[in-house]
Amino acid sequence: MKIAILSRNAKLYSTTRLVEAAESRGHDVRVLDVLRCYMNITSHNPSIHYRGEDLTDFDAVIPRIGASVTFYGTAVLRQFEMMNVMPLNESVAISRSRDKLRSTQLLARKGIGLPVTGFANNPDDIADLINQVGGAPLVIKLLEGTQGIGVVLAETYNAAESVIQAFMGLKANIMVQEFIKEAGGSDIRCFVVGDKVVAAMKRQGAEGEFRSNLHRGGSASIVRLTPEERSTAVRAAKIMGLNVCGVDMLRSNHGPVIMEVNSSPGLRGIEAASEKNIADLIIQFIEKRFETLETAKDKAHSKTRTRGKG
Ligand code: ADP
Repeated sequence: MKIAILSRNAKLYSTTRLVEAAESRGHDVRVLDVLRCYMNITSHNPSIHYRGEDLTDFDAVIPRIGASVTFYGTAVLRQFEMMNVMPLNESVAISRSRDKLRSTQLLARKGIGLPVTGFANNPDDIADLINQVGGAPLVIKLLEGTQGIGVVLAETYNAAESVIQAFMGLKANIMVQEFIKEAGGSDIRCFVVGDKVVAAMKRQGAEGEFRSNLHRGGSASIVRLTPEERSTAVRAAKIMGLNVCGVDMLRSNHGPVIMEVNSSPGLRGIEAASEKNIADLIIQFIEKRFETLETAKDKAHSKTRTRGKG
């Protein structure tokens, strides 16, 4: 197959691992800087151009779109989709997952366990908002934050009130969440490929840190999932419409609760903790999905031909 990887930097661990895995399985793979792709949307033949070259003939595209380039990156991916190039994750699913509030609402609608979460606009509603999530301590999250930046633990009612007031004053979009104390500063990353959790790790925040992000100094170790955690992760991926993703959850007293579903999960931490070749599993998934889609296309094609003859 001819596979494109949309990534800002070919030297990133996850990107190099995907290139290695694709090449070792005999594919022709190319890394494209998503911000250097430009496109002709209006033509009858939608096209993508790259440093003056016309990009054609790709069978599949692996989006590794960072949060800071979501808007442009998903536009490029959509263009590949218009050209019938199979995406590992669809652009619409990536956009969905990048909005913490939208994701939380979608997961809640399907009955997935979540921390009690509130959202408000007017400072007059702060007291009620705090009460709704069970009072302090509580967690305040910037909707656009990543890697733990913009996630604040407010230990007292007064702290919660003043931080929420400050964020509202800055017109920042925030959501307010019940603090899952019993998680003890750790969370679980489930790596989903297709309809399976292929690896999982427990991330523990640094001493005195409630955020377990590896970027915030957390450490990872292997973990054994319960059947409920496993099925929650697979369901969450399905609801978001993501074929490959990292589902982050906390172990609460009332079962697993989802933090977020990450559409470009990093491979370094999970491959190290699980000692599995996750990149290879992703490429295998692409091969299978491509074959299924091609077979379906062939069937539809031969059906129309037979009909034509009759
Ligand atoms: P980001 O997308 O920036 O990583 P998250 O929502 O995943 O933000 O939060 C970062 C970390 O903070 C989580 O991995 C978790 O360890 C901790 N955390 C987030 N929300 C809660 C919560 N409601 N209760 C307890 N810990 C939380």
